[in-house]
Amino acid sequence: MIDTVVVGGGISGLTLTWRLMREGREVVLLEASGRVGGTIRSTVHEGITVEHGPQAFPTTALPVFDLITELGITDEVLVAREAARKRFLLHKGKLEPLPQSFADIARSPLLGMRAVGRAMGEPLVRKAPNPGESVYDFISRRFGRAVAERFATALVAGVYGGDARDLEVGAAFEDWVHLERTHGSVLKGAMARPPHPAHAPNNLFTLRGGMERVTAALGEALREQIRLNTPVERIERDGDTLVVRGPDLRAREVVVTVPPGRAAAMLPELADLRGIPTAPIAGVHLAFDALPERTGFGWLAPMDARRDVLGCLWVSSGFPDFAGGKTVKRLMIGGTRDPGAVELDDDALVARAARILREVEGVHAEPVFTHVARSRIGIPQYVRGHLARMRRLQAAMPGLSFLGWGYTGVGVNHCVQAAGSWRGSSAS
Ligand SMILES: Cc1cc2nc3c(=O)[nH]c(=O)nc-3n(C[C@H](O)[C@H](O)[C@H](O)COP(=O)(O)OP(=O)(O)OC[C@H]3O[C@@H](n4cnc5c(N)ncnc54)[C@H](O)[C@@H]3O)c2cc1C
Repeated sequence: MIDTVVVGGGISGLTLTWRLMREGREVVLLEASGRVGGTIRSTVHEGITVEHGPQAFPTTALPVFDLITELGITDEVLVAREAARKRFLLHKGKLEPLPQSFADIARSPLLGMRAVGRAMGEPLVRKAPNPGESVYDFISRRFGRAVAERFATALVAGVYGGDARDLEVGAAFEDWVHLERTHGSVLKGAMARPPHPAHAPNNLFTLRGGMERVTAALGEALREQIRLNTPVERIERDGDTLVVRGPDLRAREVVVTVPPGRAAAMLPELADLRGIPTAPIAGVHLAFDALPERTGFGWLAPMDARRDVLGCLWVSSGFPDFAGGKTVKRLMIGGTRDPGAVELDDDALVARAARILREVEGVHAEPVFTHVARSRIGIPQYVRGHLARMRRLQAAMPGLSFLGWGYTGVGVNHCVQAAGSWRGSSAS
């Protein structure tokens, strides 16, 4: 019998396996496909590095940077150009810079004076924790409705491809709820944070060759533990052990890191798995010759601005090494705003992306390179009730636990962090 079977070879399953292997535990990772990395995938076409999933790690991704250090690949880290600090929000048909200081907020046309006053008064708003509260309601309560409408809907589109009114703040932005609980205010809590450690990148970062370099390095280090082309069909309890059908292994612990829809097929008796919806999303790369580069890392569209796009990343502005000498933009389309969009064919998605760039950025040039990547499974949505649902799931079967973007945090950094703090099934 094996100590731990990890199901799924994305960043979550790989990081957990890496940790357990280094602790001297017996661990086997089962991956359905012929490659590791899952959603993280980087391919190179005509000198352009195309990310199919995440584009870059944020500065807050310290657990990811620690993992990269453990793997001995820090010399491959690529930090974004200074320009990438600047982001924009689509507002009344124009791109307005996202405020980066209190002075910027007061000057920005994104909020009127009354809304600015309301937002600045956040530290004075009494804390009123509200289990199950949506992201939109939390931001409205603390900062006012205008901030929720303009910023929260755009941020949720950018991170989740989702709707701020549907997502549970305690699950989707756990940090904010924590800051309210511990400091009585999100702003006060954010200002009390320790300074950024000097050894870690202080801007967005990735690796030469793309994000997949991290999962490929884990894959190389874990060759003995990983079984590729090994889909799990069912997980069953048999006395004190769990039986993993497909490869037919017996284990003390099984950690499921596959998306909820896939997990539901392995564990049909756990109805809660069907209560975690996902939002399909498409990324459309367009590359141009001789198009003046914008300063910034792109823009987000609040819900009231447009529904045919979630946002656009200015890849070449932040990471020229990924652009093969071209100006490269990546438009994110779909999500809960337009879930059917991923089913459009490539030509229709490219035409939509080009039209959006024309209307928003005034780009009339023809792209010299296009690429469409779809995530049909889509981004998990931590809809209200997610935390309660997860408590039930983590306790549903002795020895069984759930980890990864379907359950414990949707960003790569959350996945790495959750794998680092995994302590086994709460029901075992
Ligand atoms: C378009 C897009 C953009 C994103 N942008 C960002 C970003 O900018 N920043 C960020 O932090 N995050 C971003 N993310 C999210 C990030 O990609 C995920 O958090 C992370 O990759 C999830 O990793 P995971 O290991 O939890 O799951 P996955 O990557 O989904 O891995 C699950 C694995 O399980 C395998 N599997 C499935 N079924 C079975 C089975 N039956 N048996 C065995 N194995 C199975 C799959 O093949 C897969 O390899 C983005 C995601 C998408 C789609």
